[in-house]
Amino acid sequence: MAMKSDDIASAIYQNAVDSLRIGMEFFLKEESYSSRKHAILTVFHAIELFLKEQLARSNPILIYKNIDAKITDEAMTVGVREALARLENLGLGIPDEEKRTIENIQRVRNRIEHHRYDHNEKEDNAIIASSLKFILYFVEFVLERKLDGDIDGKILRDICRRVFEYSESYGLAQHRFHEWLRSEWPDGDEEKEDNPEEFEGTHRCPECRQDWLVIGWHDKPVCFGCNMTINVDMCDDCGDVFIIGESCDCGKHKKKDDGQFQAVLDQWRGESIRLQEERATQRAPSAPASDDTP
Ligand SMILES: [Zn+2]
Ligand SMILES: [Zn+2]
Repeated sequence: MAMKSDDIASAIYQNAVDSLRIGMEFFLKEESYSSRKHAILTVFHAIELFLKEQLARSNPILIYKNIDAKITDEAMTVGVREALARLENLGLGIPDEEKRTIENIQRVRNRIEHHRYDHNEKEDNAIIASSLKFILYFVEFVLERKLDGDIDGKILRDICRRVFEYSESYGLAQHRFHEWLRSEWPDGDEEKEDNPEEFEGTHRCPECRQDWLVIGWHDKPVCFGCNMTINVDMCDDCGDVFIIGESCDCGKHKKKDDGQFQAVLDQWRGESIRLQEERATQRAPSAPASDDTP
């Protein structure tokens, strides 16, 4: 790794940059299951390490879980959640929007680590782009370091372009949402970022997989990310917002054609068995005497 001799990076920082580089390479490579999965895992790992780097700059022992016991090489270190809490307590907390970005990638990463990877293209793109945006901001303005020299210039430019595109569409959705809030609650306090009390907040849109969906305030639910009405409903039991006609998380609402599809399959299977039998019975008696049959 290229480094200036008068500006030695810590081992944590080097480790973080290495994961970031691998994550970026996976992200730019292709949108396959494996590339996206490894992009999420490595980018999340980079975030975890960058947060630890910030803790270690306050005091190196702050990266350890138990700071009351003797710290050895095997001592456990903190995870993202604890790192964020410690930074907050040190007066070094990060903004809520960035915290949500980290929570989003952590949720998908945990699902990969412990259960499964869903490989939803739109959701993954948004999650990785927003995470990279956080990292670029954090490294430059909080850790006050430069990534060029550590990461190939072409890769870095490609990533910056993607992050910029993501930021643009995010900013536009945010603007539309705030315009709507203002028209609905004209007396709202502009200074306060909080939503009005009677407004329950936005939901995850099942189309664009971003949190810009407003339900119950228009004739039909509206997504400020997609900038259109979305045909969705919310399940009373599991709270999942699902596209009408598709299944919800708990399965109370089932995909309409699930049953129909199975019925068609069964019908085809039945038909092919019937045809096979028909052919077999036709062939058996008729084969030797076929010429004589009238
Ligand atoms: Zn949407
Ligand atoms: Zn449900």
